[in-house]
Amino acid sequence: MEDYLVRGVGVGGQFRVFAAVTTSLVEEARQRHDTWPVATAALGRVLTAGLLLGANLKGEDLLTLRVYGDGPLGAIIVSATAGGEVRGYVQEPHVDLPCERTGKLPVGEAVGKGLLHVTKDLGLKEPFTGSIELVSGEIGEDVAQYLLTSEQTPSAVSLGVLVGPDARVKAAGGLLLQLFPGAEEKLLTHLEQNITSMPPVSSLINSELSPEGLVARAVNGLDIHYLDKYPVRFVCKCTREKVGDILAAMGKEELEKPLAEQGQVEVRCHFCGEKYTFSGPDLQAIVKA
Ligand code: ZN
Repeated sequence: MEDYLVRGVGVGGQFRVFAAVTTSLVEEARQRHDTWPVATAALGRVLTAGLLLGANLKGEDLLTLRVYGDGPLGAIIVSATAGGEVRGYVQEPHVDLPCERTGKLPVGEAVGKGLLHVTKDLGLKEPFTGSIELVSGEIGEDVAQYLLTSEQTPSAVSLGVLVGPDARVKAAGGLLLQLFPGAEEKLLTHLEQNITSMPPVSSLINSELSPEGLVARAVNGLDIHYLDKYPVRFVCKCTREKVGDILAAMGKEELEKPLAEQGQVEVRCHFCGEKYTFSGPDLQAIVKA
């Protein structure tokens, strides 16, 4: 199944819903950053959350999620566009923690306690940032708490990444349900009960359930009017030119040491892991230009 996202509203207009399958892009992130299972799961959940929250934006708007926990993973940074492009990284990709229960990666423990910041750059003078203390570090609950306290939107969020015994991503995706102002509180309770009684989204996706299928399970019989369906991908904005500009700004002295030691300067993009190498003549051209 291809990665894609759907956006819809409940018929009757009381809530909106977003669902995505992100298996391939989370696997791409794993390969790019060489993440180990618990890091793969944590980063995959944040990447999926970025896409689900980004689906509320328009045009060139940009959304950034920053998870600063005190656990062994360190920071997790993800940025997503309104159009379904996402990129991100985890500070410590090589974290290994014992599983308490089989099949359940200890994401909360690996993330730890700390803060979640959500920044929306809507093309205005100042980007908007909302921050909360992490509830559990499991990401889904943390994003729901952010939406409730910072955006006053009661929401249910379910995110999941299933990692196979070979450490590859078998299934990943998520679901976000938000009540519109004036909706009945008992509707949220009903929807939350549906979602908590569902099998984990990652195992539903692993058994070939589509984003629409996830929505149908979550709303259990309520009618949905779909507004949008589009592919989601891992895309980074870095280019050799942009990296060259950064090197030029660093100046000659900073670059002389690595050049003397390695014969070249290698720069790795944090967001996507892409490596750019510059030889002595390359650098001369950049610094002069
Ligand atoms: Zn990059």
